[in-house]
Amino acid sequence: MRWQSGRRSSNVEDRRSSRIPRGVKGGGIGILLLALVGMYFGINPSMIMNVGNAVQKNLPASQSSEPYQATPEEQEQVEFISVVLADTEDVWSQVFKENGKTYQVPNLVLFSGAVQSACGLVQAAMGPFYCPGDRKVYIDLAFYKDLQNQMHSPGDFARAYVVAHEIGHHVQKLLGISDQVDRARQQLSKTDFNKVSVGLELQADCFAGVWANRADRMRGILEPGDIEEAMNAASNIGDDRLQQQSRGYVTPDSFTHGTSAQRVHWFNQGYTTGDINSCNTFELRY
Ligand SMILES: [Zn+2]
Repeated sequence: MRWQSGRRSSNVEDRRSSRIPRGVKGGGIGILLLALVGMYFGINPSMIMNVGNAVQKNLPASQSSEPYQATPEEQEQVEFISVVLADTEDVWSQVFKENGKTYQVPNLVLFSGAVQSACGLVQAAMGPFYCPGDRKVYIDLAFYKDLQNQMHSPGDFARAYVVAHEIGHHVQKLLGISDQVDRARQQLSKTDFNKVSVGLELQADCFAGVWANRADRMRGILEPGDIEEAMNAASNIGDDRLQQQSRGYVTPDSFTHGTSAQRVHWFNQGYTTGDINSCNTFELRY
């Protein structure tokens, strides 16, 4: 990705120095939920709410406020993220404007280990996520190491896709889509609600694709291999792949983010059309 010359966003909140120790132990149910839903990427907001509350009660009060010592490599990651964030601001401001709406830019919080959010305690093990309560994206840079090593998804555009997916959840919040889904939760069976939350995740992938298309048109960000990097990441973090890695078998009813093939399909759908109206993932014909 051509990022060095890009604008840096001023909406990155660096909270890496207010450390809450890693591996904070929560109550039994909290930990259980964490294990179930903490599978990298945009966990269902209402679940986060529960997990956060459960864990929060057991949080030790100690927090150090020593300045965070970033390595040069981390410093570059921060620069990179703030350029990607700026590109999402520019793209979504334009798309909203085209639709007669105003885009409200979210903050992106960098943390290390764990951090408090309006959705409760965020832990690195949950992966990057969006909290609709404070409209902020939370990322621990350590995730990027996992993405590259454990999830076999190297490349700067794989990292950009992660940010763009989370911003996709913010777009859903602004458009009222995630609130609709939350309301549907009361009326649907667990299996049906699961399908709807998969739709929400796939739509965030599709929005990430729309972003890639638009940002490239605006600023020529794409280099050869970039789209493949994003699609490789989308594929490697599909629920089926992750479940298979962690348990050796897959149970489709428990998917919350979509299969690898679905994630690739919807990212590509957004990327090739550049049109949010092409992101109707809730019909789930694919
Ligand atoms: Zn997500």
